This record gives sequence, structure tokens and C-alpha cells, in this order.
Amino acid sequence: MDLGLKDQVALVTAASRGIGAAIAARLADEGATVAVAARAPQAGPGQAAYPVDLSDAAAVDALVPRVVADHGRLDVLVVNTPGPRILPFLDTTAGDYATAYDLLVRPAVQLATAGARVMAERGGGSILFVTSTWVRQPAPGGVLSATMRAAISALSKQMSMELAPHGIRVNQLMPGATGTDRMRAITTAKAAANGTTEDEEVAKVVSAIPLGRWAEPEEIARAAAYLVSPAAAFVTGAAFAVDGGAIRSTL
Ligand code: NAD
Repeated sequence: MDLGLKDQVALVTAASRGIGAAIAARLADEGATVAVAARAPQAGPGQAAYPVDLSDAAAVDALVPRVVADHGRLDVLVVNTPGPRILPFLDTTAGDYATAYDLLVRPAVQLATAGARVMAERGGGSILFVTSTWVRQPAPGGVLSATMRAAISALSKQMSMELAPHGIRVNQLMPGATGTDRMRAITTAKAAANGTTEDEEVAKVVSAIPLGRWAEPEEIARAAAYLVSPAAAFVTGAAFAVDGGAIRSTL
């Protein structure tokens, strides 16, 4: 299936590893020119590297204008962020929320605003926020993720409504457990805390997933490529889970 992404210009953030890198690679494979932003990004085929620390507000403000100056336009924006700390609620401080806000919510708002303005001027585009299933189905230790992602979910829905008249679609992709460096770091930390092995911790994660395994980053990336592409021309305001069936709610 041709997704219609050939020759489009895309920006993907937090894209040097894991889910972000897989999305950047998938979009490049589909024929898009992909600006890859991270603290130390490596540009693969069809990609251009944009070093940026998402916690640096001034650098984030400069990112969309840099991409547009280099490539002439922006058709697709994928707002991926690093995950926040995983902490039991009783161990969190107000400072943890402020740090998580600076790494997740503030850059998402900055990028979405700048990207949407550029797209509105040209009469269209597509924006995708990568969040987490934890925004819909909370998990122990996930309070920073769930609260920050709730703000991003609201932002995504609000933008989808206000930007539809400008030809801009806005969606949210909620990955479930996915085999990335972050996931491996989480299972390693849990094994140390619980006196278990990493395999035992992985088995616990997987036991809650009806499909019986976690995702590969490429599986998240294929869904992302569809959602941002012209093939999804009538999809906006959606919150799309790629989670092997882990979310238990009906809707
Ligand atoms: P990862 O740790 O493998 O990759 C994180 C990416 O963020 C890397 O490219 C890294 O370079 C970049 N990054 C880190 N700090 C940065 C900074 N200050 N500025 C710019 N870039 C920075 O993570 P992942 O597993 O690919 O997760 C990506 C997102 O998806 C996270 O928000 C995570 O919480 C979410 N998520 C992951 C899973 C999972 O199981 N892996 C599940 C649900 C949601």
C-alpha cells in the first residue's frame, strides 16, 4: 500500500533510538525527507540530523524554523518525547512533575504550535503525538507519565478540532510495552528492586498482554506512518493504541 508520503518533509523528535528512531526510519523508507531531532542524532538514509535537547526551551523554539529553512516546508510532525521517571506516587515530589513537564509537555506544546502555524500557512499537514497506553490505563509507578500524557491527549484533541478547517489532522498514538532501551532499563531496574531476574520481570510485563509478547519498535512505526500519511485522510482526533490488546477497556 502506497501511503502517499513520498517527497513529504517530516520532523520526528526524540528520534535517535527506540520508537522515535523506528518512526524516522519508516517515514524515510516511505520516501519522505525526515528531520531527525535528538540530543545527538545520527542521520540515516533520507534523513537530516537536528541536534536538540527537548528540555532547552529556546532550542525547541528554533527547531521548526530550522527545518523549514532547510527543506522549504513541513508536512508531517511527530512529537515523540523521552519517557518521564517511573516512581511510586508516594515517592514523587513537585519537582518531579516540573521536570517531567519540561521534558514532555512544554516541548510538545512548543513544537505543535510552531508546526501547526507553518502547516496552516501552507494549507495542510499532519501532526502525531506519541504518548503511552498508561494515559488510558494507569500502571503502578506511572503517575508522571499518566498526568503529563493526559495534558498531551487534551492538546491533541483540542488541536484536531481547531485545525481541521486548516487541513491539518492531529492524532495520538499510544504504544504499549515495546522492546526499546527504555523498556530494557525499566525491567533491569525492577529486577534489582524486586530481587528477581530480568526474564522474570519481562514475563510479568508480557503476561498482561493478550498477544503474549511486547511490540518491536517497527510495529509502532508502521502505525505511526499510516496515521500521519494521506492514507489516513479521514482520521483526526483519534487516540490509537498499538498494545497487543493490553488496554482492557471497551472504548
Ligand atoms: P528510548 O529511551 O528508547 O528513547 C528515547 C529517545 O529520546 C531517544 O531517541 C533519546 O535520544 C531521546 N531523548 C532522551 N532525552 C532527550 C532530550 N533531553 N532531548 C531530546 N531527545 C532526548 O524510549 P522509547 O522506549 O523509544 O520511548 C519513546 C516514548 O514512548 C517515551 O515517551 C516513552 O515513555 C513512550 N513509551 C514507550 C513504551 C515502551 O515500552 N518502550 C511504552 C509506552 C510509551
